[in-house]
Amino acid sequence: MAIDEKVPARPIDFEEDVIQRRPVTTQTGLGSADPTSPTPGVLANDDNIVFTTVSNLVNWARSRSPWPLGYGLACCAIEMMAASMSHHDTARFGMEVFRSSPRQADVMIVAGTVTHKMAPRLRRLYEQMPEPKWVIAMGNCASSGGEFWDSYATLQGVDTIVPVDVYVAGCPPRPEALLEGLLRLREKIAKGG
Ligand code: SF4
Repeated sequence: MAIDEKVPARPIDFEEDVIQRRPVTTQTGLGSADPTSPTPGVLANDDNIVFTTVSNLVNWARSRSPWPLGYGLACCAIEMMAASMSHHDTARFGMEVFRSSPRQADVMIVAGTVTHKMAPRLRRLYEQMPEPKWVIAMGNCASSGGEFWDSYATLQGVDTIVPVDVYVAGCPPRPEALLEGLLRLREKIAKGG
């Protein structure tokens, strides 16, 4: 054949070039020959197979995109804002989409001091969030009253009006602490909690 003579292009044979060249699976039970298949043992040799339940799949998806309600009560809220900025970047975990409406939020981050005057409003916002929903008590004030312990004006822990899933300690907690709390919440959601 002369050097400048072109080799005629061969059309792709799907059976031979694609199906027959799939990698052989390492999963037990999937690589055995199927006598009823026209190409025994080949169509079952596909590594892109995952077994799970629907509830596990839904919980996994929920745990990867909890949307927080966008509101803050006191100084802890500044740390919460910092956690969503570029340096700490909660977007890495799908948690940066702060919603302005409780009807679009999954997670209430109680960031700051809860006064008795604010408590009924906080409870109403919680009730307006759709199920399933979760609550993080961020900082000492939200968790137990903090430095306003025994104050006539301050709620002694937000768990007296809404169920709390994760407590984040500190006054204020750093953004890393809130990230740790969000990751713990993610584990809990993934387990169906
Ligand atoms: S825990 Fe500390 S930083 Fe957070 S709201 Fe209370 S006083 Fe402010």
